[in-house]
This record gives sequence, C-alpha cells and structure tokens, in this order.
Amino acid sequence: MKFPEERPENFCLLPFKSIRQNAFGQNSPCAFGAGEWQHGHLNPKERWQSTELNQLRQDFIDGKKPEACNRCWAEEKAGKKSLRQRTLTDCPNDYEEFIKSDAWLKGPKVAVFKTSNICNLACRSCAGWDSSMYHQEGQFYVDTFGTTSLHQGKYFKHNRFVASAPRKHTDFTQFFEIAENLERIDFFGGEPFLNQTHLDLLEYLIEKNLSDNMTLFYSTNGTNHPSERLKRAWDKFKMIEISFSIDGVEKTFEYTRWPGKWATLLNVIEDVKNLKNILNCNMYLMSSLTISSVNCFEADKVLSWHKQNIGENHYINMVQSPDYLAIHTLPEQVKSVVRNHVKNPEVLGYLDINPSNTLKFRQFIIWMKRQDIYRKQNFADFYPEYHSLFAKEWESVTDLTDKYFYTLQENL
Ligand code: SF4
Repeated sequence: MKFPEERPENFCLLPFKSIRQNAFGQNSPCAFGAGEWQHGHLNPKERWQSTELNQLRQDFIDGKKPEACNRCWAEEKAGKKSLRQRTLTDCPNDYEEFIKSDAWLKGPKVAVFKTSNICNLACRSCAGWDSSMYHQEGQFYVDTFGTTSLHQGKYFKHNRFVASAPRKHTDFTQFFEIAENLERIDFFGGEPFLNQTHLDLLEYLIEKNLSDNMTLFYSTNGTNHPSERLKRAWDKFKMIEISFSIDGVEKTFEYTRWPGKWATLLNVIEDVKNLKNILNCNMYLMSSLTISSVNCFEADKVLSWHKQNIGENHYINMVQSPDYLAIHTLPEQVKSVVRNHVKNPEVLGYLDINPSNTLKFRQFIIWMKRQDIYRKQNFADFYPEYHSLFAKEWESVTDLTDKYFYTLQENL
C-alpha cells in the first residue's frame, strides 16, 4: 500500500493497528464493529491481510468515509468525539511511525477480543449473540408472543434474544503468530471474567517476555470475581485496566442488568480495588454506562455514582441498535422533559440526532412489557417519575403479540 505524506482527512488508524475478533472468527478493525466480516474460515494472520480489511484500509488512504464506519460518523455528527477521533488524539505518531513504516504488516498493536458469547447476565440492551443467558428467554418470546424477525425479505419465528450460535470460547492459541507488535489487549464479552481460554494468550506473552510493557483492558459486568489464575497472570503485565459496566444504581442496576445483584457488584468492585495493594502491576479502574430509552432519565444520577465510587474516567455508550432502544426515537413530549432533567451533554446531543419515531416508541413499550412478564419486573416500579411521562401510552399498549408490532395503531 502507498501512503500519502500527510495523513488523509477522515483517516482512521484502527484498520492498521487494531483487530477485533470474536469466538466465531468475526473480524473487524475496532470495538465499534466496522465490517464485522465472517472470517471463521481464515486464521488470524489471514484475517489481518484479508481482502475486505485491505479494502477498508485503502478507502481511508483515499480519503473516503466508508459506510462500515457509520457509528463514528454518527457520533461526530452528534458532537461526540468518536472512537476514530479519540484514537487519533491518543496516538499522534502512529501514522508516521507504525503505518507509513510498514511495521503494521507484522500484526496489530491492539487486539480487541469478544472472548465468548457466555455471560451470566441478560442486560436489557444486550442480545443472544453476546449473552448465552438470553436463549431460553428469547424462546419464551417466540412461544408466548409469536415474535418474528425479518431475514432476506421474510419474517420468521425469532427475536434478537434467541442465540444464533452455540456457546463458544475463543481459541486464543491461534493468535500467537500475530502477537509480536501487541501493546494492548482489550477483553470484552460475553463476560471476560468467566473466560479461561484467554489465559493461554496471557501465559504465552509472559513466557515470551512480551508482557512487561503490555496493558490489558477488561470490560466486565462486575458480578464475577477474577480467578486466582487470572490474578497471577495480571501480576506480570504493566497495567490492568478494568471497566465496570453499570447502567443503574441499586434497584435500577438490577432492572437493566438482570439478574445481576447490586450487593454482588459492590463486593466484586471492592475485591478488584484491593488488588491495587496486592499485585505488582498498575491497576486502573473506570466505568461505562450504556444509555437507552430504558435509563436515560437517570443518566446524571448513575454517572454521579460512577464518579464517586469508581473514578472520574467513564465512557458513555449510546444504544443505536435495536433502534427502539435509541433515545432519539422517544416522543417529543418525553424528550422535552428529559432535556430539562438531564444535564449530561452527550445524552442531550444524542437525543436530537434524529426526530421522534412513534412506531419505535411503541416497540420499546412492547419489549419492556414482554421482558417484565418473563422477569417478573415492572418498569413503573423502577422508574416511577420517568414512567409517568408516558403512562397513558404505556397503558394503551395491551397487545404484545407481533400483530401490531410492525404497524402503527391509531391511538398512538
Ligand atoms: S472510523 Fe470508527 S468504525 Fe471505522 S474503523 Fe475507525 S473506529 Fe472503527
């Protein structure tokens, strides 16, 4: 590949320095899932030089804004600093030193792994492809409400909670041959603290003396303690960063991240905080908050808890998919109250990225009610003030079958 002297406009570093893989060989250059090519038939080295990834690289060299990167373009349009922009700020020399020099050809500096599809929680914003916990629940919705999904122009009995693949952990031994450039590995889930296979890679890196200058990042749901074997491996790395995903406080945590328990979360956070005094590596704790139409009303309250109990560094993840959970689909009368109630600029910016959508809002109510039935929860008990903003619409939705799911009823 030929690189221009000056970094092209709209350029993203990540296709040249990062991989994101899951247990089934899905391949993307970043945590935002650009591309998500199905490369289960290729080994990791072949994925790194695959035709599709090379085409994305070429698009960035040519100054294009590839469609695969829509999430970054949407964030930039909403005034939020995108992953692309944050990476450019954090790594100002990579274009010159790692990309133009062709050092990237030997492998990525950053590897992002979805370690498995195995998790002990079934969060409201998650789905069956990321959490094995969801399968039985998804099947309940098929059987009880006749839920359907659209695939290749046809509706079939399904929903996003039904697992599309069996439970599987990533085979990390396959990544040994592109590990030489690695400086950082990010582990997402499933739930990474439930994954043992990633220890094969950590122990290989320790054996090859590659761990001393390496940072490991974990995005955890905070309801599983790290194992003793994992703590022993962490001890040999430069830095361990742990991000706790927490979308509510006390009872709203248990609503958004069902069937997680608030007391367990507090216990795990305490355990991880104590490791700072026990392990030789540096430990850095942060948090993430996923904002959807479920919890946007209490965004400030949850963020304030994050800051007081974990630290200042937090990341806000705005749900885009499924679209009925995206906060810009909320009715205008709800948005206007949220605008007065919530101060966080990222949440406010995203609220107005698109106009309200009556159909999507009804789908939101239908799905909350379906899930409340399965989980024996009641949205109004957890978010009484927020629920009161649309209590009339909420009550008017009584048919939870798919009969009215895709078309508008007159009374909404
Ligand atoms: S522009 Fe955004 S979505 Fe595309 S590769 Fe870069 S970080 Fe990923």
